[in-house]
Amino acid sequence: MNFEMTQEQIMLKEGVRKIAQKYGLEYWREKDAQHEFVNELWSELGKNGYIGVAISEEYGGAGLGLIEMAMVIEELAKSGAGSTVGQLFMLTPVFGGVTIELHGNKAQKQEFLPKIASGEMNFCMALTEPNAGSNSLEITTFAKKEGDHYIINGQKIWISGVNIADKMLLVARTAKKEDVQKKTDGISLFLVDVDDPAITAQPIEKVGTHTVRSDAVFIENLKVHKDDLIGEEGKGWRYLVDTLNAERIVTTAGLVGTGELALKLAVDYSKERVVFNNTPIGAYQGIQFPLAELSAEINVAQLMNYKAAWLYDQSLPNGAEANTAKLIAGKAAFQVCDRAMQVMGGYGYAKEYHVERLWRDVRLFKMAPVSEEMILNFIAQHNLGMPRSY
Ligand SMILES: Cc1cc2nc3c(=O)[nH]c(=O)nc-3n(C[C@H](O)[C@H](O)[C@H](O)COP(=O)(O)OP(=O)(O)OC[C@H]3O[C@@H](n4cnc5c(N)ncnc54)[C@H](O)[C@@H]3O)c2cc1C
Repeated sequence: MNFEMTQEQIMLKEGVRKIAQKYGLEYWREKDAQHEFVNELWSELGKNGYIGVAISEEYGGAGLGLIEMAMVIEELAKSGAGSTVGQLFMLTPVFGGVTIELHGNKAQKQEFLPKIASGEMNFCMALTEPNAGSNSLEITTFAKKEGDHYIINGQKIWISGVNIADKMLLVARTAKKEDVQKKTDGISLFLVDVDDPAITAQPIEKVGTHTVRSDAVFIENLKVHKDDLIGEEGKGWRYLVDTLNAERIVTTAGLVGTGELALKLAVDYSKERVVFNNTPIGAYQGIQFPLAELSAEINVAQLMNYKAAWLYDQSLPNGAEANTAKLIAGKAAFQVCDRAMQVMGGYGYAKEYHVERLWRDVRLFKMAPVSEEMILNFIAQHNLGMPRSY
């Protein structure tokens, strides 16, 4: 076991930090208020090779892995972005990049990976439906084969980044649940054009993560060529598991960076703020202990996430680690933001002090992309060997 960072990783972190510092807290506050995607930052990250960090060199990427992607995300999150930046890396580098790199065919890799790496092309993923969230195998969006094409109909919900995406990774059934032996069979992945008139999207008003819009999506008689299928028809769930584990790793990286950022804001404030006896509030254990405890939890989550990412990059099973890291990071990052707000008293509630945005955004990750309860179900069942409870 070697916990030392490579020279390449140290340089990668330094490089991305320089860009991240140009797009700090004020930039994100403004983008959040305007409900605008961070185009300037995203295009600079693309030009400098950070979006394609895990894409192979053959297709224009840096040829590194998810562990380096996690480091890039942490730097961005702690420089001001907060947890939303994990979502940005979910959308294009993971839903597009990781899925196509692992399971796409040669033509799909040649067409899409270089444009993903450069930041020219954005992706989103449509899995969740009004009646299929945690129970994602219950999706009913259906792709009916007709000659060389599929005709797809269905409804999706909470689809993030549709408004900025060129392509959608669309998850649909090609065989009904009742007609297959295992519920995981009969699911297929398609790469579809978001601007096809058969797809319409309606924004959902939400609590936070305003730089990444989320929509209800309606799909009516969408015609997709069979060449736009990823891998084999009906085997999509197996491919999707890889995408979803990578999604947990990037989410956790965003949460770790957010924890570090909120801790810093709280600590800095507590060292300045004097309330009684000419003593800064940071001198009180009542202020210190919760922050110290959460700092320990964030560090543990980071370590577990690096392990998950390392396993992922070696093509080894990583589901238990990726889920565990996400569980710990989601809880700890939310608690840090909440404590940071408490430490700042009334000022924590003011937009000017930034913590309120971090707090609003981070709440999402207790229930998405996978909820705390579903991770506990996973750990009980897969790690502890207990019976499935549902
Ligand atoms: C802002 C936002 C962005 C999103 N972006 C995307 C996206 O880009 N693409 C996409 O496909 N989806 C996206 N999602 C969907 C997200 O993945 C789902 O919301 C999530 O999987 C939970 O599903 P649900 O909302 O239907 O909750 P439900 O599945 O209805 O669960 C409701 C509650 O019941 C609990 N619960 C359910 N079953 C059990 C059980 N067996 N044991 C214990 N507790 C249980 C859950 O943990 C949860 O607390 C997004 C969601 C949000 C809010």
